[in-house]
Amino acid sequence: MDHLQLPAQGRNPDEVLTDLSRFRAKDPDYKAGKLWSLVYHLDEEHDDFLADAYRQYSSANGLNPAAFQSLKQMESQVISVMAGLLNGGPDTCGVMTAGGTESCLMAVKCYRDMAAKTRRVSRPNMVLPATAHVAWFKAAEYFKVKIRLLPVGKDLATDISKLARKIDGNTVMVLGSAPEYPHGTIDPIAEMGRIAAEKGVPMHVDACVGAFILPFMEKNGHDLPEWDFRVPGVTSISGDIHKYGYAAKGASAILYRDLDTLKHQMFVYQDWPGGVFASPAMLGTRPGGAYAAAWATLQKFGEDGYCDLARRTIAAVDAIKEGIDGIDGLKILGAPQGPLLAYGASDKALSIFAVADQLAAKGWSVNRVQNPDGIHAMVTARHLEVVETYLSDLKAAVATVRANPDLARTGSAATYGMMAHVPMRGMVKAKVLDTFAAMYRAGGGALELEESGKPGLAERLMGRYVAWKARRG
Ligand SMILES: *Cc1c(COP(=O)(O)O)cnc(C)c1O
Repeated sequence: MDHLQLPAQGRNPDEVLTDLSRFRAKDPDYKAGKLWSLVYHLDEEHDDFLADAYRQYSSANGLNPAAFQSLKQMESQVISVMAGLLNGGPDTCGVMTAGGTESCLMAVKCYRDMAAKTRRVSRPNMVLPATAHVAWFKAAEYFKVKIRLLPVGKDLATDISKLARKIDGNTVMVLGSAPEYPHGTIDPIAEMGRIAAEKGVPMHVDACVGAFILPFMEKNGHDLPEWDFRVPGVTSISGDIHKYGYAAKGASAILYRDLDTLKHQMFVYQDWPGGVFASPAMLGTRPGGAYAAAWATLQKFGEDGYCDLARRTIAAVDAIKEGIDGIDGLKILGAPQGPLLAYGASDKALSIFAVADQLAAKGWSVNRVQNPDGIHAMVTARHLEVVETYLSDLKAAVATVRANPDLARTGSAATYGMMAHVPMRGMVKAKVLDTFAAMYRAGGGALELEESGKPGLAERLMGRYVAWKARRG
């Protein structure tokens, strides 16, 4: 196999930068508000501001907090601002991380190690709602903590009736989300916190989505249930600054009620030949640019700026909810209270994944959720300007799918439908792993759900499923 060669002679920097802008041609059009996840874009002016802030610190390294004191100071101030927003007490402390996943992983590592040290727990488990972000399932696998799942009820809200019974001597933490990612519902944090506290088990609130919008919704007069450090049983909270904080990518934080708990997150190795080493989170080198851009963004928007962003975002959410209520055959999934929502088909004959394909054909990039099937939207302030177009395209998409029900059996609708509904989940996992891993061959390209000429993932899954059924008779 011939691998790509470095250019024999280095290239003209301007040409290289031109290449970069050319590469973007087929990327999702987030600047036009066509993307409903992944990017929290406001406008060019804010992008330039982020880039300027980032550039000033793009070489700075937060690995050693004593070296770049500028970064440590910005980090401390970001944590302090967040502690205030989340109603933390005098001992609230925390660490900036490179993203929500790092924050979630650290909480699991922290509580696992704390339980091992203070309660000699050697076979740890944690109680997670089924709607917990996938980062928690990743953390469980990485850190070998068994999951005890809280199911959802008919309304898709977390059913906590068995929470107390699921907690035992090996439970290292309980999780609640504010809000959860699949449907935007806020878990019953106050009640969960009370049960966790009664059992003497720590409780983390995943506010990766909520931390930079729920507090401002409250200031705008929305009546939300208590979900932050005001709930006595809540011992830590994660919040992403690179989501509704509108910072550059690579900025999240995890906050703890007290330092004694946070200590279990930290790593110290005093005998390394490279020197005595201490590190607060997963990363070694920590990206100074991301932390500086996060600090700068908080200063730039301030309280009034974030209140306004929250107001515009919720106006967009409300308009979308109302629009969906008005389209026959669609319904909102669960009870979203914040900036994100999902909707599915209220009518069995309508394939929501085929509707998603129709939206994609109009240039919208939407995410699909499963179990129940739906279309997902992380709504930002920017989307307020495109809500009407989105809803009219959605209405047309539903009409097209109703007139052509076969669309459910073609294209990516077939693949997503198959992946969501085939009962052999292990097989889906294996197939996805194959397809996904192949993307990481050196020089490999992006994931093509339906490779031209070859049978697509759906056909291959269907083939395997039919064979499996035949074997079972
Ligand atoms: C996005 C998200 C995460 C993970 O954050 P990343 O920044 O994508 O790593 C965790 N929890 C929730 C609820 C999220 O929405």
